[in-house]
Amino acid sequence: MNIAWLKRLPCGSVRENAPLAKRTWLKVGGAAQVLFIPEDAKDLALVLRQYPVDAPLFCLGVGSNTLIRDGGITALVVQLGGGFAEIHQLDGHRLQTGARGRSVQVAKKAAEWGLGGLSFLAGIPGSIGGALAMNAGAYGGEIFDQLESIQWMDRGGVIHHLPKSELEHGYRHCGLKEGIFISAVFCCPCRVPAELQAEIAAVQQRRAETQPVGVATGGSTFVNPMQDSPITGDRRHAWQWIDAAGCRGMRVGGAEISEKHCNFMINAGGASAADFEILAETVRERVRAQFGIELQWEIRREGIPARHEAESV
Ligand SMILES: Cc1cc2nc3c(=O)[nH]c(=O)nc-3n(C[C@H](O)[C@H](O)[C@H](O)COP(=O)(O)OP(=O)(O)OC[C@H]3O[C@@H](n4cnc5c(N)ncnc54)[C@H](O)[C@@H]3O)c2cc1C
Repeated sequence: MNIAWLKRLPCGSVRENAPLAKRTWLKVGGAAQVLFIPEDAKDLALVLRQYPVDAPLFCLGVGSNTLIRDGGITALVVQLGGGFAEIHQLDGHRLQTGARGRSVQVAKKAAEWGLGGLSFLAGIPGSIGGALAMNAGAYGGEIFDQLESIQWMDRGGVIHHLPKSELEHGYRHCGLKEGIFISAVFCCPCRVPAELQAEIAAVQQRRAETQPVGVATGGSTFVNPMQDSPITGDRRHAWQWIDAAGCRGMRVGGAEISEKHCNFMINAGGASAADFEILAETVRERVRAQFGIELQWEIRREGIPARHEAESV
């Protein structure tokens, strides 16, 4: 990719061969061929207007749901910069946040302003853009519940405004495929701030009790299956199938199935992206063989395997 033109534009930060591991929660993976960090929508539009619509592009949020493969990403990787992180109260019911706003911060600001329905976001470590793309949720709530509208930019650099009703979404799924979320407006019921702050504390305490904290992890590896097992006849959460298949604590290289929550993989030290993929595929195979359940990845996998792996296939 020739990026001389990109380097000449006054458009935020542009880096070639930029390591991505430290920009993800699993702390593995290779480099971005080009990493572009626009400070604001003007920067982003300037580049998208000139970057061919069919050339490879990947938008990284804050990497809490993404496994970057060891060979890196051969694409323009866009990570929204600080100008997309602002969170404002619009009126007594509504707040607006940039797509780089952190879900935890949105929950805290909403509580401060007495805006209810967003406390569950305090347990989700990603950005609002990533939460929209994943339709992130927890404890019975999901990001689309209080969503009023979004703004997104298409590959030609044009901004579109969409009400929630025009954005297809489902469990851990959102219909926007080719664009970049840039902001969102939430419409919330009025609540007492102290009650919301107590909800946030409860969410965070529950997390600390049930999930690995202080270690590199990508959150839930698999979505919860929606079908019954043809073998046992019942329906369970992904972690229950993984546990029943005897995979708790299983390890490949530095990648490990968490003892604390076995739908979480952790980087126990020195893991590669390949370790994580081999571990998770082994788990899938065991669950399929024992229970006839096809676990589906929730973590998004991006990029290419390390060169020596690709050559040995
Ligand atoms: C400890 C831990 C706990 C977690 N708990 C939960 C949970 O309870 N519930 C839950 O749903 N998830 C959970 N997650 C997963 C993750 O935090 C969410 O999916 C989060 O919303 C992802 O946001 P991100 O910015 O990290 O996205 P990334 O991982 O960076 O990206 C995820 C996807 O979103 C896309 N994307 C990111 N930003 C944009 C944008 N601006 N426009 C378009 N597409 C974009 C990316 O291209 C990618 O496909 C957890 C993760 C961890 C590490």
